[in-house]
Amino acid sequence: MPELPEVETIKRGLQGFCLNKKIVRVKSYCDKSLIGPREIAEGRTVEKFRRFGKALVVDLSEGVSLMVHLRMTGQLVWVSSSEEETQQEEPSSISTSKNAVSNVEIIKNLIKNRFAGGHPSDNFTDKLPNKQTRVEIEFEGGGKLFFNDQRKFGFIKILPTDEVLQDKFIASLAPEPWKMEAEDFYQRLQRHKNSPIKAVILDQKVICGLGNIYADEALFYAGILPTRKAGEVSKTEAKLLLKGACEVMEKSINSGGSTMATYVKADGTKGDYLRLFAQVFRREGEPCNRCGTEIIKTRVAGRGTHICPRCQK
Ligand SMILES: [Zn+2]
Repeated sequence: MPELPEVETIKRGLQGFCLNKKIVRVKSYCDKSLIGPREIAEGRTVEKFRRFGKALVVDLSEGVSLMVHLRMTGQLVWVSSSEEETQQEEPSSISTSKNAVSNVEIIKNLIKNRFAGGHPSDNFTDKLPNKQTRVEIEFEGGGKLFFNDQRKFGFIKILPTDEVLQDKFIASLAPEPWKMEAEDFYQRLQRHKNSPIKAVILDQKVICGLGNIYADEALFYAGILPTRKAGEVSKTEAKLLLKGACEVMEKSINSGGSTMATYVKADGTKGDYLRLFAQVFRREGEPCNRCGTEIIKTRVAGRGTHICPRCQK
């Protein structure tokens, strides 16, 4: 599931491709995935990208915005117009003697003309639209932005810009860890004294931005067992946990999150972006980088949870 760092990397990546570009057409392949009147987005220019937790907001000219919720399996793929031409020529150039066009070159070309982020899958590199494409936004000059979503929990909402902050989801969000004071965080934990600390930090009304991956990573960073009651976390530990939340997410953002560049390496093989920063997440059975003890996977708050039984107390 794409989390805050993934959405932040998408925001940064898309800024480079679609800022100041004009939308000429918004096409929906699934009613559930596009909410609001698409006509009001057509003819508008992309002016600004904003992120609220895991929601991406694209502000268009004349007071219109697109709000993107990726949820479980959503992804955004930008395909520049030059790639479209390449794709159309592809069948002839590949089936003939030009098998010399190596896989590496195709991949390199893809990475140059595409930007993809969100739930990592082969859609990052596949020809689009495909059967998982829910919304297709065409820009002046031919570039296209595809919203793919296998499980259809995500959506794009078109709304007036001045209604963005009143949106039910955005209005309910707590501050992000970078904007929260340690004392405030501690007090927020105290309001959920008897719940396991992991469940509490996953609550977006307590702190915004931590999903399953970064909750596990932040708890490891702070040396706190996810099963401990929130009321038993000391002020010092709360401060360390907040610092951990900032650091693990920053590290992920800086390593590129789950974008195409981390999914498909330049040699065409698949990469795993979690490998770039994860200390415990999906590392069960492997030795802890800090103490060498085997990382174990348990279940806390109904979620798969990864811990080092020695480093976390
Ligand atoms: Zn350890």
